[in-house]
Amino acid sequence: MSAFVGKYADELIKTAKYIATPGKGILAADESTGTMGKRLASINVENIESNRQALRELLFTAPNALQFLSGVILFEETLYQKTASGKPFVEVLQENGVVPGIKVDKGIVELAGTNGETTTQGFDSLGSRCAQYYKAGARFAKWRAVLKIGPTEPSELSIQQNAQGLARYAIICQENGLVPIVEPEILTDGPHDIAKCAAATETVLAAVYKALNDHHVLLEGTLLKPNMVTPGSDSPKVPPEVVAEHTVRALRRTVPAAVPGILFLSGGQSEEEATLNLNAMNKLQVLKPWTLSFSFGRALQQSTLKTWGGKKEHVARAQAAFLARCKANSDATIGKYSGAGAGGLASESLFVKDYKY
Ligand code: 13P
Repeated sequence: MSAFVGKYADELIKTAKYIATPGKGILAADESTGTMGKRLASINVENIESNRQALRELLFTAPNALQFLSGVILFEETLYQKTASGKPFVEVLQENGVVPGIKVDKGIVELAGTNGETTTQGFDSLGSRCAQYYKAGARFAKWRAVLKIGPTEPSELSIQQNAQGLARYAIICQENGLVPIVEPEILTDGPHDIAKCAAATETVLAAVYKALNDHHVLLEGTLLKPNMVTPGSDSPKVPPEVVAEHTVRALRRTVPAAVPGILFLSGGQSEEEATLNLNAMNKLQVLKPWTLSFSFGRALQQSTLKTWGGKKEHVARAQAAFLARCKANSDATIGKYSGAGAGGLASESLFVKDYKY
């Protein structure tokens, strides 16, 4: 058997293709309760369910924003939450053509014997959790594997463990009707140059696609969520055209054409930086057999969060900030971003060392 052809095959292919529609992308709003605590602390708002709900409602009901999104990744709590007026968030998204997704991993733990490298947890009852999330309306999933660049990292052990983990997760999702987003994130931490990031990205992606093949994953029913290829956080930045050239080259060398879409994480880039890099990739005149789009968390929410500040009277302005980022990134998926969203909050760096999602 090559690829798995279960009862969901046609639906998986259709869902993945839809999420990869040019002009649309994913909002990653799947911060775990702990991560939400950090976000809310940054605006002096208490980490209680009603505040987490309020922020999500602000995002999902922002006027005109959902037309630029094909998917939203939710944390389990949010999958079952409702608007203040009692409408399930899942319905709000579905009515606007946005596919609900769900984070299914349970965070990372250190791999013994390595220099702080990690593997991702969450296999316990993964199949039954996926089936339950499908019933609740989710149609795709996320599992974040984290790798790092160092003198001898990513190590062969971490590359193999994370590739196997992603493949095992992906096939379990597909058996239960969820399109797996495959996310091997190489952290930006470090003094390395862009060439080193490009080499690591190629090696990791090649291992990931070998493992997906070994596990009989139906590539047409998957999506990739990689890091962009950039210099390390302690190295000088390079222009978007250079990021674009290195990133697209690494992807062309490793990601099969059967994969419908590649939706980048923002990884601590500022909102504006992430948009400009995506735009430059879509302007590149080389064959790109997949859609190149966004699955940003921080780079879609930061200026919205800051503008909101937990205050009801700021909701409309915060929603306008969110709409501006959604529109900017939508334009970037077709290489037509003019830079109109630049300046102010959107240009602030969001880098956090050793970032935990
Ligand atoms: P950032 O865009 O904030 O890096 O997060 C995206 C994400 O979902 C990481 O798993």
